[in-house]
Amino acid sequence: MSAQLESHEVAAGWQPRHNPTLSPAGTGRAQFLHALLILALPPAGTVLAVALAWRWGLGWSDLLMLAAMYVLTIIGITVGFHRGLTHRAFQAGPATRAVLTVLGAMAAQGPPIYWVSNHRRHHHFSDRPGDPHSPLYDEERRLGRWRGLWHAHVAWTFRHRLSNTVVFAKDLIADPLVSRLNRLYFVWVLLGFGLPALAGGLLSGSWRGALTGLLWGGFVRLFLTYHATHSINSITHLFGSRPFNTREQSRNNAWLVLPTGGEAWHNNHHAFPGSAVFGLRWWQLDPGGWVVRGLARLRLIHDVRLTTPEMIAARLAQQPPAGEDLPERETDDALHREPAHKRSARSPPAPARQGETRP
Ligand SMILES: [Zn+2]
Ligand SMILES: [Zn+2]
Repeated sequence: MSAQLESHEVAAGWQPRHNPTLSPAGTGRAQFLHALLILALPPAGTVLAVALAWRWGLGWSDLLMLAAMYVLTIIGITVGFHRGLTHRAFQAGPATRAVLTVLGAMAAQGPPIYWVSNHRRHHHFSDRPGDPHSPLYDEERRLGRWRGLWHAHVAWTFRHRLSNTVVFAKDLIADPLVSRLNRLYFVWVLLGFGLPALAGGLLSGSWRGALTGLLWGGFVRLFLTYHATHSINSITHLFGSRPFNTREQSRNNAWLVLPTGGEAWHNNHHAFPGSAVFGLRWWQLDPGGWVVRGLARLRLIHDVRLTTPEMIAARLAQQPPAGEDLPERETDDALHREPAHKRSARSPPAPARQGETRP
């Protein structure tokens, strides 16, 4: 096991003697059932949605439900779960944190503390034994290219060792708000179906509109967001460019940037995991980064961590020989914080976290 720790693991009280996982792979019934339902139900609902659209026509409110729910839940995943909860790339007050967390939970990719633990484990063991969803390894076993693609995209959800949340997400377990939202996970998943049904019914003034709103804003949306997010685990660790010679095989894949809300600048992200913005060049579109900047401008979030051109240039100049490690911590801890005068006057400074030194 690598002795190099990421800053969030230090803050979470990681000790090398702690076990990063809690169960052998493939033993959880709940894990298997959740994986099966989230894989099979959305395409079934999508077939029904298309069949009904063939018969009744496709209403503008159905497309609106699909677009609105897609954008909201992808923001929940990339800004809420990933940049906010996992990497703590910004700080947010309780209301903003709650909204972003609920939106992420509506994407039905597991409760937030489970999601964060898996993702922090991914960063710690990236493309090595112990990574929950690498296309190169199934826990310990080396995988071929196509089998690895299938494993990282779908198969890992059915059989992976449960990440030890006490090791990887102690900070979130200790957070009463996130813990409460975590326990209500299935309520938020159902809300992700109920909201478009309600809105579709109200907009069209009919039960038929409620049904098609449910199908397009619930099932079709979930079918698309599932494969968009999972393509980050699979495709962006196999196909694309590698401007930064990071220790894993992460890639930037411009084709996937818009559907994933900017997540597909994945090599940038592994080079600077604590940065709230993944698009590091002016031409690298990053919708999640736009949302972060918008929320900061509205003073709903603060302490936004960003890279500077100097840091990017230094990181590019620092390329280690292929196959050698450049610990993420080295770049992550140096991230530039938004100047204090840009922070919200209403927001009290976040309490210092264990292992963190404030600039
Ligand atoms: Zn990755
Ligand atoms: Zn990450």
